[in-house]
Amino acid sequence: MNLYEFQSKQIFAKHGIPIPKGELAQTPEEAEEIAARLGGRVVVKAQVLAGGRGKAGGIRLAETPAEARAAAEAILGMQIKGLTVRRVLVDQAADIAQELYLGIVLDRAGRRLVLMASAAGGVDIEEVAAAAPEKIARAEIDPLLGLQPYQMRQVACDIELDRALLTQFTRIGLGLYEALMRSDATLAEINPLAVTAGGELLALDGKMVVDDNGLYRQPELARAREMLEESPAEREARQYGLSYVKLDGYIGCMVNGAGLAMATMDMTKLFGGAPANFLDIGGGARADRVAAALRIILADPNVRAVLINIFGGITRCDEVARGILEAFAQVPSKVPVVVRLIGTNEEEGRRLLAEANFITARTLSEAARRAVEAAQAGTAAPAV
Ligand code: GDP
Ligand code: MN
Repeated sequence: MNLYEFQSKQIFAKHGIPIPKGELAQTPEEAEEIAARLGGRVVVKAQVLAGGRGKAGGIRLAETPAEARAAAEAILGMQIKGLTVRRVLVDQAADIAQELYLGIVLDRAGRRLVLMASAAGGVDIEEVAAAAPEKIARAEIDPLLGLQPYQMRQVACDIELDRALLTQFTRIGLGLYEALMRSDATLAEINPLAVTAGGELLALDGKMVVDDNGLYRQPELARAREMLEESPAEREARQYGLSYVKLDGYIGCMVNGAGLAMATMDMTKLFGGAPANFLDIGGGARADRVAAALRIILADPNVRAVLINIFGGITRCDEVARGILEAFAQVPSKVPVVVRLIGTNEEEGRRLLAEANFITARTLSEAARRAVEAAQAGTAAPAV
């Protein structure tokens, strides 16, 4: 689970990392009030789970509360990498002298955490890593000893940090390590870690990735996830144990098994279509899960046809068919549906669906071709 900037910074602050004063706003009016309360120059920042917000226009400086309101007006509702901005963080603006990078990431191959720092902060660290890897200093963290102060000093030396900042820098690194460990995170990153004109270090941006397997012992983060969920579709998908990823196309795909779902998406593309989503309903899909999956797919306004591809190994095809019928009874829709069922009880499943005027197919290529045709023709709805 990725944390938002404001969440990561709140966690940083709990571990002694200095962050700018700031508050979250959901409306331009709130942004204005916060700016007035903070006083002076503020920065209004889009809260979405994507990097590069600055380049996308999601970060604006404002000199007055009225400007902060205008900035929030421009940013709220904006799309950044396909995500709609629903909240902005209004922070006291910093006077930046230099932008550093400081992060701790899990190196899976090395089976340990690695501390990374660079004097070339602010920009995408992946770009720095690709273009000038020598500008990134590293220190491997021993899993038994944890991050040691001498490692912070070593890294500070490698990036030629001003000696006057050494104590602060060390404290921030150790705090970041604590924040990561206590949150069951696999990544904790400050980019930029600003050196202010006044000679202070300040975490201006924050990013954390928390291991989903640790969420059972992170009740606060799990609750926050419920509250901040990007879309109702993703929430519903999780409740029913479905893996769902929204995409830009127009053919809704419902498949059992991740590999089969990928193959189905490839086939859709091969026949000239574009998948609207990845959706894996998993094994043993019963009627209620299939119904939930269809509700999620049909809630996407881009969907012009639905392609259902079920391999009935453990899953019984007649049960899947009943689930499809049940879902359509719940969610009336004019979208054409192509179903390919194969495996246990496939004849019975196909018969049930054909009776209800669904388009059925025997092979995946046939199903994909028909789904693309149906989407492009805007075929009439199945009569349920
Ligand atoms: P990102 O683009 O999503 O990584 O968002 P950041 O929070 O890292 O902001 C991008 C850039 O905006 C930073 O690298 C800074 O150059 C600038 N920025 C962010 N906060 C401030 C601030 O308080 N004052 C000033 N002057 N610039 C800021
Ligand atoms: Mn950043």
